[in-house]
Amino acid sequence: MSNQQSGAVARYQLLPAVRDFISKPKRMLIGADWVAAASGETIDVLDPASEELLTTVPSGGEADIERAVRAAHAAFDSPAWRDLYPTVREKMILKLADLIEAHAEELAQLEALDNGKSVMMAQIIDVGAAVSFMRYMAGWTTKIEGSTIEVSPPMPGVKTFAFTRKEPIGVVGAIIPWNFPLLMAIWKVTPALVAGCTVVLKPAEQTPLSALRFAELVLEAGFPPGVLNVVTGYGHTAGAALARHPGINKVAFTGSTSVGKRIGHAAMDNLTRVSLELGGKSPMIVMADATLDMAIQGLAGGIFFNHGQVCTAGSRLYAHRKIFDKVVEGVAGAATQMKLGPGLDPTTQMGPLVSAEQRDRVCGYIESGLKAGARAIAGGGAASGKGYFVKPTVLVDTREDMAVVCEEIFGPVLVAAPFDDLDEAVRLANGTRYGLAASIWSNDLSTVHRLIPRLQAGTVWVNAHNVVDAALPFGGFKESGIGREMAYGNIEMYTETKSVLMFI
Ligand code: NAP
Ligand code: MG
Repeated sequence: MSNQQSGAVARYQLLPAVRDFISKPKRMLIGADWVAAASGETIDVLDPASEELLTTVPSGGEADIERAVRAAHAAFDSPAWRDLYPTVREKMILKLADLIEAHAEELAQLEALDNGKSVMMAQIIDVGAAVSFMRYMAGWTTKIEGSTIEVSPPMPGVKTFAFTRKEPIGVVGAIIPWNFPLLMAIWKVTPALVAGCTVVLKPAEQTPLSALRFAELVLEAGFPPGVLNVVTGYGHTAGAALARHPGINKVAFTGSTSVGKRIGHAAMDNLTRVSLELGGKSPMIVMADATLDMAIQGLAGGIFFNHGQVCTAGSRLYAHRKIFDKVVEGVAGAATQMKLGPGLDPTTQMGPLVSAEQRDRVCGYIESGLKAGARAIAGGGAASGKGYFVKPTVLVDTREDMAVVCEEIFGPVLVAAPFDDLDEAVRLANGTRYGLAASIWSNDLSTVHRLIPRLQAGTVWVNAHNVVDAALPFGGFKESGIGREMAYGNIEMYTETKSVLMFI
């Protein structure tokens, strides 16, 4: 395997730490131990830009999940974690954020290798946003509060004292996708640690590397063994075993709507608490008065950021008929100029998709749209040569019943259609089963404010798209999920409320 490994790794300008990490045999973290899968099986980790083997990781299954859940329970019950003051947990989380920041370039290279995204973007977004999120969340550790409540029992004269306590929910099973591997891990693990929970994390099979490096840094930051356990493996084996495990107190999932529904069913069998951040098909609505140069740039970013592999990607463009041609030509121009290449090439503007499966899925959608009568004014399929590259694509002449318009593609594909008035814009925007996000591009405050309440979306951006902030609740309406991450509500997802009533 070492010969096969050397190809991609030797070609890129990698930090020595990244080379070392890739060349070490990969083990998963259960309790204090770095272990192989009980079955001994492994999963190949590929470089999506060259299709070459980078390394392998353990293919964890039911027995490994069982062991990890036990380790997480032992850590949850141990005074070394349970009895820590909030100030100590806060300090540990801040130390972990510092460690991640200190290793930002290394983690970004790892992410670029594993996922295909641009190393520069990975450093700013994946690592940068993760560090900001951790620092924001760390502050809540010392601000978790219950309340005292005056009660009226049916026994006149009895003196009472009643209060609520917020307690950690227990062991969290976190299942995450491959589009922002480190950031998704940190979005799940941090609020759980803030609340005093312990975690079993299952990263996506396509992108397990940054989660394993993150686990090393968690131990380095001083968290007791068992507080974070990472089981690498497939969704249908490790993921399913985690979601249905009766020892899991909460499942936190980000991924597709179809898998989210399955996880929800499995969790419900044990009445395990569950939060689901799922897919989307988010509209971008451009009013006739929008500042078009700014809007065109923003719209191109709205769909092509992270190669369209973003749950909030602005994958449907609705522009007022008066400006429709100018807007779509502008976005198509931006698409055509984008330079495709490996994420580790600093001149790359768009890397490969994450896997051959994802490339084929995205190209299948494009073909189905073209067959149904849509027209590509940019892109239109895979790029030739090695790597899972798909050309940034803009489709016009679409109809509402086409799969490319109503289903999530999760790739660099924009569908565009004109509208004539606000009612039509609202009807089109709300016309899918999803409700994750939407953006409005306009300078007319009155129109913007009339539109906001009518959009079925968990987040509405105005003259922006894809901007997520740790202080602003994030999640979906309709089939885009259940629950809201970010802000204080994110901590409540990892706590139970205990009511205490005393006769004194
Ligand atoms: P996915 O197929 O749903 O996978 C997500 C995770 O679930 C992976 O770790 C996967 O494991 C695991 N999984 C698959 N089948 C499972 C099962 N039966 N039981 C338990 N776990 C299972 O999604 P994806 O293709 O990786 O990611 C893309 C999707 O995520 C898109 O639909 C996107 O919109 C959504 N997403 C949503 C958000 C949000 O915040 N709303 C953010 C990012 C992505 P394996 O990959 O190892 O099979
Ligand atoms: Mg998958």
